Amino acid sequence: MADGRLLLATTSAGKLREWQALLADVPLQLVSLRDVGIDFDVEETGSTYAANALIKAEAYGAASQLLTLAEDSGLSVAALNGQPGVRSARWEGDDYVHKNALLIHLLANKKGAERACRYTCVVILRHPDGRRWRVRGEVRGQIAFQTAGSGGFGYDPIFYIPRWKQTLAQVAVDEKDRISHRGRAAGRVRAILRELIETGAA
Ligand code: IMP
Repeated sequence: MADGRLLLATTSAGKLREWQALLADVPLQLVSLRDVGIDFDVEETGSTYAANALIKAEAYGAASQLLTLAEDSGLSVAALNGQPGVRSARWEGDDYVHKNALLIHLLANKKGAERACRYTCVVILRHPDGRRWRVRGEVRGQIAFQTAGSGGFGYDPIFYIPRWKQTLAQVAVDEKDRISHRGRAAGRVRAILRELIETGAA
């Protein structure tokens, strides 16, 4: 169905806010799960970001029959063998004061590059006509020695960008969008959406 709408299929308020800003210049009506009356959660049983993004895109795309964007993302810490990774949302519960304090504690004896971490975002765009696109974005940083800032969401207060000497929770929204995993993925998503619009498929 090419009715000019794009479903942002996420139950995360932080992700929804960021996607709405990142795609604000795309001439499509951005709608949320709530806007289309979808209130079910999907179990993320995949072992990769791509698998989980696909699970969400299929479930919400089939339920809405709209052009649907689903993403799976997470924080991966090199010194912790990539944890929390695909389990970022569920890892150690949902209290980010606790989760962030624990990560700082687990890296207590690490310095500089030993504190390397990365955010990854994988997006699946699902068209009701059967087409699927997959894009990926990443940003590298270091786990901060202490939390800083109140912007963003989730692990942002401990995601330190060495060249900016700030965490992603300290920078302006458009600065995070410019370098973030989600911002980078959005650049590619925008190009696909533009083509769909030009060909009358969105
Ligand atoms: P999921 O994609 O729903 O499995 O959840 C991704 C999880 O990764 C979020 O709940 C956060 O814990 C974390 N995450 C992903 N992107 C960001 C971000 O931009 N800032 C902070 N945390 C993030």
